[in-house]
Amino acid sequence: MSSENNGKPRGESEQFLSRVTSAIKGKIYLAYSYQAEDTVALDMLVKSAAADTGVFTLDTGKLFPELAAYHMEVEKFFGLSIERLHPDSSEVIELEAGQGEFGMRDSIEARKHCCDIRKVRPLSRLLAGKSAWLTGLRAAQSVTRAGMRLLEYDEQFGLIKINPLVHWSEEDINEYIEKHGLPRNPLYEKGFRSIGCMPCTRPVREGEDIRAGRWWWEDPTQRECGCMVKQGQSKQQGQEPRQHSEKKHERNSATIKLG
Ligand code: SF4
Repeated sequence: MSSENNGKPRGESEQFLSRVTSAIKGKIYLAYSYQAEDTVALDMLVKSAAADTGVFTLDTGKLFPELAAYHMEVEKFFGLSIERLHPDSSEVIELEAGQGEFGMRDSIEARKHCCDIRKVRPLSRLLAGKSAWLTGLRAAQSVTRAGMRLLEYDEQFGLIKINPLVHWSEEDINEYIEKHGLPRNPLYEKGFRSIGCMPCTRPVREGEDIRAGRWWWEDPTQRECGCMVKQGQSKQQGQEPRQHSEKKHERNSATIKLG
């Protein structure tokens, strides 16, 4: 059984999360997208020193039907409510009128436009003015996530981003889930190794990369929805940072002195 990840003790993430969550003032939000990683992050958050937390999922309208039951199972297991964030209905109507059902596969621009309306904009509305959010991202998941850090300032949304699993491997995640008896997304049993919207996610074949089933028709360097832009990337990808003030940045930075 592995207890190390990229040379870092796995328990370090749990200690780190407790220290950082107790240092942050304000509510900490966890983005729950039904990944095994998110379930681990949720378990760690529930057991951390965080005083005020919120858990949400981006209900894009394109999710797998299996996730409805799994959503309730996770809520029951942790004894909490996972808020569903929906896209703006008029924007969705306009999007579907222009793209049709599978128009997101026509081009990277079309796909990113769909992700922007269904994911990035609802996320941006929720995070506006907030202090911190937590993700289950791992650096080893894809080239787009290499170089991530445990604690970052999210320039796109203007708040602190905590990535406690950044150094974890897929094996570390599976071991944690088994050890703590956490509920497992039934899609993993069907060959999925990364969970996304139904039109843009397929099971992964033997020998394929863990994220090979996400937007599989695109170049691997482009396969992100726009919610998880790395530091310094927002302008390179043509996405301006969301509105936030320098003052807010300074205030956030000042709240996470961990000693
Ligand atoms: S993952 Fe696919 S269906 Fe979901 S928001 Fe992005 S483009 Fe649209």
